[in-house]
Amino acid sequence: MSKLVPTIGLEIHIELKTKTKMFCDSLNDPDEKHPNVNVCPVCMGYPGVLPVINKEAVKHVLRTGLAIGGTLADYTQWDRKNYFYPDLPKGYQISQNKYPLVSGGGLNDIKITRIHLEEDAGKLIHQKDCTFVDFNRAGVPLMELVTEPDIKSPEQARKFAEELRLLLKYLDVSNVDMEKGQMRIEVNISMASENSSELGTKAEIKNLNSFRIVEDVIKYEIERQTKILEKEERVVQETRGWDESKQKTFSQRAKEEAHDYRYFPEPDLPSLKISEINDFQNLEATIPELPWEKRKRLKEEYGIKEDLIENLTNDLDLSSFFERTISESRADGKKISKDRIVALTANYITSDLAGIMKEKLLDFESLLVTPENFADLIIMVAEDKISSRVAKDVLKEMIETGAEPHVVVSEKELEQTSDTELIKDIAKKIINENTKAVEDYKKGNENSIQFLVGMIMKETRGVANPQKVKEILEKLLK
Ligand code: MN
Repeated sequence: MSKLVPTIGLEIHIELKTKTKMFCDSLNDPDEKHPNVNVCPVCMGYPGVLPVINKEAVKHVLRTGLAIGGTLADYTQWDRKNYFYPDLPKGYQISQNKYPLVSGGGLNDIKITRIHLEEDAGKLIHQKDCTFVDFNRAGVPLMELVTEPDIKSPEQARKFAEELRLLLKYLDVSNVDMEKGQMRIEVNISMASENSSELGTKAEIKNLNSFRIVEDVIKYEIERQTKILEKEERVVQETRGWDESKQKTFSQRAKEEAHDYRYFPEPDLPSLKISEINDFQNLEATIPELPWEKRKRLKEEYGIKEDLIENLTNDLDLSSFFERTISESRADGKKISKDRIVALTANYITSDLAGIMKEKLLDFESLLVTPENFADLIIMVAEDKISSRVAKDVLKEMIETGAEPHVVVSEKELEQTSDTELIKDIAKKIINENTKAVEDYKKGNENSIQFLVGMIMKETRGVANPQKVKEILEKLLK
């Protein structure tokens, strides 16, 4: 038997960030704590009510379509997808079957089939012996993106989903909070011989809400389906679920029981001619710099390492702080090379600043340090006005009080000094107090001089120029 290879496609549902629901003015508030508060006759499916299309949601989908290079529909309409489930009060979901808002496009070298706009269902809450229904989510705008079966590995699937999530954050169309179910992934996977032109029988695994689980599900299914095919048995076409505790998929529903949704055009909504609606014109102008564009620019503009580029691309607050610091430093520190400023900024942000922010659970919004002040600190280090040791203390003070760095430095007299007489006096004192280290040094132990330099730096609260300290010390010990 020739080698078996997987064919994988994804269907991803994303709850959009809008003020109100898809077809009514009930609030779309994912943080609402009380059940069944954001409901009205429209999203509760009462008879005799009329839905109204949410323009903001349509705009979100069109902008996503532009960002992935898809074709925007000129004509679109909605359809009823009929099925019964307790979380679906109308007995049908308003979705788009024939005329999706977006067709084609791609992301991470994976082709996208379509993106359409529909409404979410409510949420079932299962307790011991009963089930509750919360309809706050019923009717929330839901974007569904379907890929071509272009994906060849678990890692590729995970990376695609991660990049999509990042893109949606950049476009600000969804909060994409995976834990709240705002991005739910379905995997379709089959296995077939490498040189076969026919696809194998697929399994669908729905409602996955973590990237790690998507990867694990695919790895497991590759193994499971390979074993079946190697025994020359048949894979059953079915929907499977993921059992997290057993790290296995399990059969949920066979194809025979699959729904016939009896799609038909939604009679209560008008069809749309996108090119004739003012709000949907010139959307290109609303597309920000996209993740892949940003990676490229960061590399070209700053020549920084891959992992820093990735950190900055994944965190818009961090990258904004980084870039503003550099542009402020460059405006002030004219004599210092750009490379030096970039290196210092990268270093102080990723080690010192990030460390303290993590420890104190601070985010950039609550941070008292401005990029302007941070730039001043960087320039003081670059111009050797303060030592790197002092810089750390000054930064701590800046984070606590929001003080300007040069104020902290002058008030606490932390400016770096190369005053020979002062350093000599302290060095003599340290030599007298550390006879063992002095002897070791004279016996040829080079580490001992570093120890003595450290002691002098400590005695001077870090303000002595360490180069100068070493020079003076070496002279005295000769
Ligand atoms: Mn759907």
